[in-house]
Amino acid sequence: MRETGRFAPSPTGPLHAGSLVAALASWLDVRARGPQARWLIRIEDADTERCLPGMGKHMLRQLADCHLLPDETPVWQTQRTAHYEAALQKLQARGLAYPCGCSRKDIDLALAGLGHTHERHGERVYPGTCRDGLHGKPARAWRFATEKFESNQPGELHWTDRRLGEQHQDVGREVGDFVLRRADGPWAYQLAVVVDDAEQGVTDVVRGEDLADNTARQILLQRALGLPTPSYLHTPLVRGADGDKLSKQNGATPIDTATPDAALAALDAAARVLGLSAITATSCTAALAGWVPEWRALYNSRP
Ligand code: GLU
Repeated sequence: MRETGRFAPSPTGPLHAGSLVAALASWLDVRARGPQARWLIRIEDADTERCLPGMGKHMLRQLADCHLLPDETPVWQTQRTAHYEAALQKLQARGLAYPCGCSRKDIDLALAGLGHTHERHGERVYPGTCRDGLHGKPARAWRFATEKFESNQPGELHWTDRRLGEQHQDVGREVGDFVLRRADGPWAYQLAVVVDDAEQGVTDVVRGEDLADNTARQILLQRALGLPTPSYLHTPLVRGADGDKLSKQNGATPIDTATPDAALAALDAAARVLGLSAITATSCTAALAGWVPEWRALYNSRP
C-alpha cells in the first residue's frame, strides 16, 4: 500500500505552536519516505458544536504559509457522514453498538452506587447501565460495546508507538463503553478518525502526545470493523516556561504566519520541539528540505 500520512486538525481555533509540531512532524514523516508517499490534510469538523466558522480554511492558509502543502485536496469530515453512518450500522449489526439513555448525572449516580469516584482525564468510566436496554429512557448516544468485544480477545491491548515505545491499555476497565455518536447528531472523534484513516489509506499516524490515550480505543474499533491498524507516532508536547502543557490559559496563542519570516520562525520553533537542528536556511522550503534527512535518521523506522 502507498505510504500515507495525514494532519487532521479540528477547526476549533487557529493553529498554535502545538498543532504546528504535529503538522510538521507528519509532513516530514511522509517526505522522509520518498516521493511516492502521500501527505493528506483532513479537517476534523465532525463535532460541529466545537468548530468555528471559517477556521478550517484559515488553518489551511496558515499551513500553506509554512509551505506544508497536501498532496491531495483536503477532506472535511462534515462531508463524510455517510461513511460514519455505514460504520455505525456495521457495529450495530454485529451487536457491538448500543443506545444509551444516561445523562452525566445518571452516570455519576450509578458510579457512586458502585462505590466508584474514578475519573479518567475528566471522563467517567461508563458503568454499563444501558447495556441490556434503555429502561424506558430516550437514547442520548450510541456506545461501543467494549466489554462484549473484548470478551473475544481478553487482556490488555498492546501496541508499539514509534516514539513512546511499548504501550498497553485495558479499554474496558480504564475507559469503558465509549460514545460513537450523540443522539442529537455529532459523530464522536473515535469513530470518525478510524473510518477516515482507513478510507483514506493512512498507513502512518503522526500526531500530538495529548492524543496518545485514544489509540487503544481506535485500535479496538479498527478490529471491530475489520480495518487495518496504522503505525502510530505521538510527538512531544510544547511546554510552557512552567513546564506545563500549553493551553489557551498559559499561552497557546495562535502562531503568526503572516510574513515568510514569521512562518519560518514558527516552523523553526516546532522543529526544536521535535529535536531537529536550528535552521540556517532563509526560506520555509529550504528549511523543510534540510530537516527531512534528520527526521529520517531520528524516527523513520516502523515498530
Ligand atoms: N482532530 C484531532 C485534534 O485536532 C486530531 C486527530 C488525530 O490526529 O487523530 O485534536
